[in-house]
Order: sequence, then C-alpha cells, then structure tokens
Amino acid sequence: MSTHSFEHTLLHTLANNVPHRIYAKDTQSRFIFANKCVAQEMGLETPEELLGKTDFDFYPHEDAAEFAASEQDMLRTGVPILNREEFVDCQTNQQKRWLLTTKIPLYDDNQKIIGLAGINYDITQQKHSQNELRAAHKQSEDMRVELQETITLLSREIKERQRFENALRQQALHDGLTGLPNRTLLVERLEHAMELSRREKTSLTLLFIDLDRLKMVNDSLGHNEGDELIKEVANRICKNIRKHDTCARFGGDEFVILLPNDITYSALGRITNDIIRAISAPLHLGGVELSVTCSIGCSTYPQDAGDADTLIKHADTAMYQAKKQGGNSVKFYTQSYSIGVTERLTFESELRSAISNNELLLHYQPQLDVASGKIVGVEALVRWLHPERGMVPPLDFIAIAEETGLIEPIGEWVLREACSQAAKWNQIGFSVRMSVNLSACQLMSPDLDDLVSGIIKEVDLPAQQLEVELTESVSMQNPEETIRILKRFRALGIQIAIDDFGTGYSNLAYLRHFPVNRIKIDRSFVNELTQENSSQAIVEAIIMMAHNLDLGIVAEGVETIEQHDQLAAYHCDLIQGYWLSRPLDSAACETFLREHRLLDQ
Ligand code: C2E
Ligand code: CA
Ligand code: CA
Repeated sequence: MSTHSFEHTLLHTLANNVPHRIYAKDTQSRFIFANKCVAQEMGLETPEELLGKTDFDFYPHEDAAEFAASEQDMLRTGVPILNREEFVDCQTNQQKRWLLTTKIPLYDDNQKIIGLAGINYDITQQKHSQNELRAAHKQSEDMRVELQETITLLSREIKERQRFENALRQQALHDGLTGLPNRTLLVERLEHAMELSRREKTSLTLLFIDLDRLKMVNDSLGHNEGDELIKEVANRICKNIRKHDTCARFGGDEFVILLPNDITYSALGRITNDIIRAISAPLHLGGVELSVTCSIGCSTYPQDAGDADTLIKHADTAMYQAKKQGGNSVKFYTQSYSIGVTERLTFESELRSAISNNELLLHYQPQLDVASGKIVGVEALVRWLHPERGMVPPLDFIAIAEETGLIEPIGEWVLREACSQAAKWNQIGFSVRMSVNLSACQLMSPDLDDLVSGIIKEVDLPAQQLEVELTESVSMQNPEETIRILKRFRALGIQIAIDDFGTGYSNLAYLRHFPVNRIKIDRSFVNELTQENSSQAIVEAIIMMAHNLDLGIVAEGVETIEQHDQLAAYHCDLIQGYWLSRPLDSAACETFLREHRLLDQ
C-alpha cells in the first residue's frame, strides 16, 4: 500500500468513525466531502448524497445564509473560524443542537484557497449540563437573593414587633398622664430592690406621697387643670430625686418613691423636705396662682415589712397619719399604726379595759374669742394613758375603737367626763363651752340624743354649753340622716360644729342645709396662711361665706402670732392652737382659765 493510499485510508477510517461531523466544501460552499456523521445528522443514507449540496439544502434559510456568509468571508480572507459555537436546527430529530465549529481554508500547491474543511463537535450535551449548571447557579442565586430579602423583611418585622412590644410594655407599665412608672412597675422594681438589699444586707426606703386637698382644686378649676397639676407635681418630684430612685404614679394623686439604697435619717429628712417644698411652691393653673401641699409617709425595708405589698401599705398608713395631722408633713411608719393580728387582739382587750381601769383621760384645748379676747370654749381631746405604752394619742386608737364598736363606751365616757368637767368649772365661775368630738359610729347610734340629754341632765350642764364636733366627711356620709339627727340636737339646745372643714368634699353652700352653729377651718389652711399662696384667699372666702350664712368660724392649729393677726383681719371669730395653748389636762386648763380671767380683768 502506497503512503498516499495509506493516508487516504487512515483519514477515511478516522473521518467515518469519529462522532463528529467532518466535511469539506468548495469555494461555493458545496460539499465535496462529508463523513457518515454529517449524513446521519442530515437524515441521509450515505455521505455521497451530500456531495454538491449546500447548507441551503438542509438548514433554514436564515441559518444557511449566515453560514455561507461566514464561509465566504473566510475563503476571501484566509482567517480560519475557530471554535465558534452555533445553535442550529437539526434535520434528524428536529431538536436544535449546539455545535462547536472549526473551519479552515484548503490551499492548493500554489497557496490558493480552493475550499474549506470543517469539523463540528456536537456540544449540546455539555451545553445542556452547562446550562443546567448555570440554571442551577441562577436558581440558587435567586434563592439566595430571595432568602436575603426574606431575612431583611423578617428582621424588619421582628424589630417592628419588638418596638411595638416595647411600646406596649411602656404603656402597660407606665402612667399615661405623667409617663412615670405605674403601680405594676413599681412593685416589680421594689421586689427586685428588696431582693438586692436582702443579699447585700442593706435597707431601702419607700415614700408614699399624697396631695392634700387635690379634690378641691379639681372641683373648682376643672379636671384639665387637675391633670396639669398632677403633671407639674410629677415633674417637681422627679427633679428632687436621684437617677436610680424610682418615682411611680400610684393612683390619682398618689406617688410612691423608691429609694433603693441605704439612706441616713438626715438625708431622708432633706429629701422629704425638698419634695414638700418643691410641691408646695406656687404654680399657675388656669390663670390662678395656687399651691398644693402633700403628706408623705415613709416605710423602710427590712425593718417595717418583708414583702412589697406590706411595705407599700405601711408607707400608705404613715402617709395617712401625716394627713390626719394636718398634711404638709412627713410621718414614719411605726408599729402602732399597724399592729399584727395577735398584737391587735391584745390592743383591743386592753382598750376594752381602759375605761374600767381609768386609763382614759381628757385634755382640753382653749378657744379664744378674737374680738373680745376672752376664752369662750375648750375642746375635749381624749388620751389613753397606757400602763406600758405611755400616752397613746387618739389617732392611734380611735380608728380601732370605731372598728370594734368600742367607740360607743369610749364616746359615752368622753361625753360624761367632758360635760361633768364643764359643770364643775361652772360651779367655780369659769363657764366655757365644751366641745366634744363625735365619730361617725356614734352619730349613727339610734339613742345618741337620749344619751346626750341624759348626761347633761345628770351632770347639770346647760345644753347650750355643749357643742358636738363632726368632721365634714362624717356629716356628708349620709346627709339626710345627719340633718335629721342634728335637728334633734338643736332641739335640745346643743350646739354643732363642723370639724376639719376644707379637707372633705362638701361645699359651704350645701352646709346651709345643716343646722350647724360654726365651722372649724382645717389646720392645713391655717398652716399656709402666712405663706404667699391661695390659702389666704380660700380662708378669707370661707370666713366671708360662713358669716353670710350666719355661721361662726373657728380656726384650728393657730401656731403663730402672724396667723392670729391675719385671721383677726379676716374677722375670724374663734382661734384655737398652740399659739394660745396646747391641749392641757383638767388641772392645767383650770389654771389657764384662771390666769386668763385675771389678765382679762
Ligand atoms: P381634731 O378634732 O382636729 O383635734 C385637733 C388636733 O390638733 C388635736 O390632736 C390637737 O392636739 C391638735 N392641735 C391643736 N392645736 C394645734 C396646733 O396649733 N398645731 C398642731 N400641729 N396641732 C394642734 P389630737 O389630740 O391628737 O387629736 C387628734 C384627733 O383625734 C382629733 O382631731 C379628733 O379627730 C380625734 N379625737 C380626739 N379626741 C377625740 C374624742 O374624744 N372622740 C373622737 N371621736 N375623736 C377624738
Ligand atoms: Ca375636733
Ligand atoms: Ca379639727
């Protein structure tokens, strides 16, 4: 076999057995050679059938034109087409195929281009997997983007929800008007602080603050102003506490301050004084300048209580005592305000026997007629001289006496003792009116008037020398019933005074329906008289209105000459208070009356 024919055979064998299309074309792009693969792809039996045909015979016109143009280009320039990817319609299975095409020019011995040889690799499979890969890539990329977006959305939503929950929590744990922590948050913080001081063996203090006479401001100026007042007070309190202290709005006009650290007695005094001063500084509301005062009660952990609720309750109790003593003051919780159940039982049984044991006694506080300078009356104030506790003030046992019904025998004892004392003084020439305090239970007792008329007969005291004092709130509890009872007193000739006027909710006009002789302006108004504030206007107005209604006026708690002078200028009828005299026992009071009589003459 010649070399030529060997090469020919080799090429022919190779060409017909590789799975790629191999072909040659003349300068007109007509096939002059094709292997089996080309024939197969074109749907022909033998390669010979291709000879003389062009791409136009097999491919869509557009594709064929493009192939021919590029072939002509190459035939002209001699620049081979290398590895061009083509996507062509396939004759055999109507499925487009991806071909990787290389075409190179064929030269004759004179280096003249006489045609081209071409080879097409079918890369559809690779393309597919490449595309699949790309698609998979794209899909995963899409998913990543989608995921990223979802994450962004989700985290935005979570943040939003957190913000919402925070707002809700803020709302649930704070007071809407002042923005201060509310009762719930206070208890939460208090319990936490108690836990801490338990561990660190320190103490903490609670201050229970209640505004005095807010109701009056609310009623006279309106609720909007009342709200403004609360906000302003909250502001002022917060300016006077430290950052780690908590000030909570506990109720309508109640605030509770938690001082979580050990605090000295004098520092506590400073803080409470600052708060009292800050709250009572004048403020302008609805065009009016006024001043409110407050009462503060203190309790301390662990001395006063072991749990949050009790500690708060004790501070509240102490506040109530401060208020009862006229307001604008501070009281520390002491055991006697709130005694335990067993202690309470002992206390009760001791109180029960106090009368038979002769442990009760009366002090008398003189009342001065401002115009005449004469002592015209005394108020009887009960005390309990306890064998161990010493002198127990009425505020520490009257409430328990009322709850247990002991107020009846105690009240009866007070009435009899006071009336007989007045009768005795009558006999030695010191005739004064005797004022006796009546509690709510006493007033409601059905045979009170029989009892009273019996006593004055028994001790021989003229009825007009006895005066009963009812607090404003007691008389307003059941006004119709009160009026009925008071009318019976009046029928007996007994005088009637309304006690602690200004601290309750009644108004002067309404009192017109009560058959009373005089009203006693509460000590808290008198207290503030010499400060520049609304109390002056209130006191002056009360006195004027009372006089218009033909009622007498007693000012309680007059402690200074300035207060006396001012009340005198307002034509107040009677004054009573430490400036004139503290409450005195019967002997001391007798001496006082005697000396005053001498001075008078
Ligand atoms: P109240 O009727 O308002 O009595 C006046 C209280 O103010 C008395 O307190 C008196 O000691 C005090 N006081 C008098 N002058 C001044 C002053 O210038 N400045 C200050 N800061 N205080 C002054 P006390 O004796 O502790 O009585 C307290 C309350 O106990 C009385 O308030 C009254 O509500 C009640 N109470 C007293 N005795 C009786 C009683 O026999 N029966 C009843 N039911 N209650 C009584
Ligand atoms: Ca009184
Ligand atoms: Ca009073």
